[in-house]
Amino acid sequence: MRVYNFSAGPSMLPEPVLQRAREEMLDWHGSGMSVMEMSHRGPHFRQIAENTEALLRELLGVSDEYHCLFLQGGATGQFAAIPMNLLGDRRIMSYVLTGSWGKKAAAEAKKYGEVMIAASSEDAKFTTIPDPAAWDVDPEAVYLHYTSNETIGGVEFPFVPEVDVPLVCDMSSDILSRPVDVSRFGVIYAGAQKNMGPAGITVVIVRKDLLRPPHPATPQVFDYAKQAEAGSMLNTPPTYNWYLLGLVLEWLRDQGGVEGIEKRNIEKAGLLYGAIDASDFYYNPVDPRYRSCMNVPFTLADPSLDGLFLKEAEAEGLVNLKGHRSVGGMRASIYNVMPLEGVQALVQFMQEFERRHG
Ligand code: PMP
Repeated sequence: MRVYNFSAGPSMLPEPVLQRAREEMLDWHGSGMSVMEMSHRGPHFRQIAENTEALLRELLGVSDEYHCLFLQGGATGQFAAIPMNLLGDRRIMSYVLTGSWGKKAAAEAKKYGEVMIAASSEDAKFTTIPDPAAWDVDPEAVYLHYTSNETIGGVEFPFVPEVDVPLVCDMSSDILSRPVDVSRFGVIYAGAQKNMGPAGITVVIVRKDLLRPPHPATPQVFDYAKQAEAGSMLNTPPTYNWYLLGLVLEWLRDQGGVEGIEKRNIEKAGLLYGAIDASDFYYNPVDPRYRSCMNVPFTLADPSLDGLFLKEAEAEGLVNLKGHRSVGGMRASIYNVMPLEGVQALVQFMQEFERRHG
């Protein structure tokens, strides 16, 4: 039996994708071999790689002004790669902090230049987004970095900030969950393992004209210009992950693309927040304006019931609901692939649990 997996990532993959991967496991399209066994430089894999990039560009509407890179090292690798490729001989970067991932990104960037914190909601325990009118964006900053969805706190930007410097956005946990106007961004990056595939491959969408001569100590695998020139194959790429990413993008296209998936995501999140708000037993601490459609943290009125909640949920096939170790409580991650039925089953379980223990 397959469970409803509420993990924050790696997370659920579409069943048709897993089935297709199984069907193609031993012999990809008559090649006589698995994708895992192919040369990344051969014609078969080239086709897979090109198809994946074309789908990504189509789904997000990425123009030729941008490179699409498929890299390793996770979003965490990009925390460093971004300043290494964008700063050139300049030093100042602005960061908006709305959670612990943005804070980590800023800490890494400090190794390469001067990080100015334009705004932070840390004083509010990262439950909100500071009013953009009050952001202090350094006019000398090479870019402004923010995290469109903070995976741990469950805080998501419902808007794209309007600033006078290029925007760099960590979209790891909400990429492809809703339409975005890519032309408003300098860089968009995301690990695949939440909304678009398995762990091990990271998408970087970067406006070509923002690239400066990289920091002299930049590892060549993190050199955007070199990777772009090499079609993200400067060294052996994570071929199987790339292939699976392509299959998930095909599935997303079949769901009506990002517009189609957004409708479902709004419905799922509405259902879950509605149930939380209708109860005195469950509580979500996030400013309602900025609640995430992807990660829904909640606490129980009596934390001594946490263990029982998780155990009983698991028995119902609702797994990985434990909140991040830094905040405790519960967290339901309801990314693109989580079906409405999964959220309905969770809500029903929560209501029954409250009836028995509330
Ligand atoms: N940014 C965000 C918003 C994340 O949720 C995560 C992973 N949970 C990361 C960055 C780090 O990603 P990775 O593990 O791919 O380095």
